[in-house]
Amino acid sequence: MARIVLHRVRLPLLEPFVTAHGTEEHREVVLVESVGDDGTSGWGECSALSQPTYTPEYTDGAWALLRDVVVPGSFAGVTVRIDDAPMAHAAITSSFEDLEARQARRPSPARSHAARHEVSCTAVIGRQGDIDALLAVVATRLDEGYGSIKLKIAPGWDVEPLRAVREAWPGVMLAADANGSYTEADASGVLRSIDALGLVYLEQPLPADDYVGHARLTDVIDTPIALDESIRSAADLDHALSFGLRYVVNLKPSRVGGSGEAQEVMFRAMESSLSMFVGGMLETGVGRAWALGFASWESCDLPTDLGPSSRYFADDITEPIELLPGGRLAIPPGPGIGVMPRPDRLDAVTVDRVELRR
Ligand code: MG
Repeated sequence: MARIVLHRVRLPLLEPFVTAHGTEEHREVVLVESVGDDGTSGWGECSALSQPTYTPEYTDGAWALLRDVVVPGSFAGVTVRIDDAPMAHAAITSSFEDLEARQARRPSPARSHAARHEVSCTAVIGRQGDIDALLAVVATRLDEGYGSIKLKIAPGWDVEPLRAVREAWPGVMLAADANGSYTEADASGVLRSIDALGLVYLEQPLPADDYVGHARLTDVIDTPIALDESIRSAADLDHALSFGLRYVVNLKPSRVGGSGEAQEVMFRAMESSLSMFVGGMLETGVGRAWALGFASWESCDLPTDLGPSSRYFADDITEPIELLPGGRLAIPPGPGIGVMPRPDRLDAVTVDRVELRR
C-alpha cells in the first residue's frame, strides 16, 4: 500500500429521505481510496449518515476517525475495533479488498458466492406529505417496473398509508420498516392492525436492543419480523436466534463492519434457513456496487433495498447503476467491486480531501 486518500463527497439527494431517524437532504460520505505500489486504486465507502441517529457513527466523526486513527493505524499494523466503528472499518477494509481484487483481476470478496448477475430490488418509500402523495409515488415506482414496495413507517404514519397502498394494489409485494420506532405497548393496537395487511415482513418494529420484545412480538403478530438495526454482528444474530424464533435478516454489510462479518452473518442465516436481503444506506455507486455483491448470493431470497442510482442522485459518482426491466439491478461486472468514481464527477462533489502516506 503506497498511500491512502480520503475523499469527503457531498451529493444532493433528488428528494429528502425521511425515516423515523430523521431527514437526509444531501448524502455526504467518506470514500477511501487505497493506492497500491503499482498505481492501482481500490475503493471503499463509509456509509455513516450525517447525524448519529441510525447508529452512533456519523460523517464528521467518521472523517476524523479515518484520518486520525484508522488510516494511521493501518499503516502501523493496528486495526481499529469493528465494534467501535463498523462503517469506518468496512470502508477501509473494503478498499483494501477492492485493491487486491483489481490487482489480481478477480471479483471482490463480496461476490465470492455470487449466484446471479441480476437481482430484484424493492422501492423503499419514505414518509410523504399525505396519502394521495404517497399513492402517486407508489404508482410511479410500479410504473418504473418495481415489483416490491416498502414503506418507512413511524407512529402517526403507519396503518393508514399501508392500508391505502394495500387497497390500491392488493397483489403487490408490500413491506414496512419502522426503524425501531414502536414499543411492545403498541403491539395490541397498531402492530395488530398492520398484521392484517399481509406484509411480506415488518422490519425492526422495536428498538435495536430489544431482542426480548421482538421475540414476544412473534407471539402477537403473524407477519414475519425482519431485523435490521438489531443485527450489528453475527453474534447479534446468534443472540436473536437464541430465543428459538425465526426472523428475516436485513444485512447491511457496512453496518456489520465489512465483508468478513457480513459473510459470517450470511453463513449463520443460511445454516438456520432464514430469509434474507441486503439493505441500503443511501450509498453512492461505490458502496452500492460493493453491497450488490452480497445481494447476488443465492441465500438472499428477498428483493434487495439497494436501488438504482437514479432513485437518489441526478448524477451518481460512478457510472450509474441502472434499473433494468422488471425492477432488477445488474451486478456490476469486472474486477473488484466493478465500478470506480469518475474523476470529473469526483472533483465536482468533493468537499474535502486528505492524502496519507505510510
Ligand atoms: Mg431498515
